[in-house]
Amino acid sequence: MQKKFGQNFLINPNARKRLIDELGIAPGDAVWEIGPGLGAMTRELLDRGATVTAFEIDQGFVSSLKEIFDGSESLRIVPGDALKTWKKESVRAKFLFGNLPYNVGSVILGDFIESKCFFSRVVVTVQREVARRMAAEPGSKDYSSFSVLCSSVYRVSPLLVLKGSSFFPPPHVDSQGVRLDLRDDIDPAGYPVLFTPLVRGLFASRRKTVKNNLQMFLSNRRIKDGIHIQDAAESALEVSGIDPRERAENLGIGEFRTLAAALEVYVG
Ligand code: SAM
Repeated sequence: MQKKFGQNFLINPNARKRLIDELGIAPGDAVWEIGPGLGAMTRELLDRGATVTAFEIDQGFVSSLKEIFDGSESLRIVPGDALKTWKKESVRAKFLFGNLPYNVGSVILGDFIESKCFFSRVVVTVQREVARRMAAEPGSKDYSSFSVLCSSVYRVSPLLVLKGSSFFPPPHVDSQGVRLDLRDDIDPAGYPVLFTPLVRGLFASRRKTVKNNLQMFLSNRRIKDGIHIQDAAESALEVSGIDPRERAENLGIGEFRTLAAALEVYVG
């Protein structure tokens, strides 16, 4: 068992079934599984007729998986760090599934979103605190840049909470399942280029106003000749109808999006 890879196996069969039910797999559906471990979830995905591409970093598990699933034509195992290997895949999948390693769960999900690799549905288990951030609404203490990123692309539904005893070895923190459904009311690929860096920039210092964070953000970008950062910040906020004294934690996705589009005039 390698602690650095966040290896806590989900040993609660009822929870495994409920999580996989959430995907709503039809035979032939393509699923990417992150961190199959020894394949307990993989087995259930295959039993439902899915075609699975499983990304596993631990070489020992990769060898075991090859033995356990020897000859299965519906499973392809991709060894290595999923953060690097998924980008080399030529064909994308309909679903993403995984009991994600604690240390990199949010990094992996954020990487897919920022790289514009979207799935019809995602069902993952993450640390409960991460699940709270994913589902947080504007104005709440858990609302963060990650909340905005997730809900800019997906509708986020928190699922069952899992105590440490559902895993082996039992972690010290609770986990939670989360389901993400691709939004059909927006084009997730159509956000302004500045959207993601701006969202991160406006949350850089939670105590600061939107205007102060925006000026800091602009000071790290290439601004078009002859334009002053303060003027650009004030003007873009005004055009977007955002009070400069507001804080990022109270802004909705539409406001981040409008502001990112307004800034394109100033950023080279
Ligand atoms: N799927 C199994 C289960 O539910 O019982 C194992 C889940 S365990 C929480 C996380 C798994 O992700 C481990 O198998 C670990 O080796 C793997 N893993 C950790 N970091 C990874 C990465 N960057 N890329 C691919 N797999 C990773």
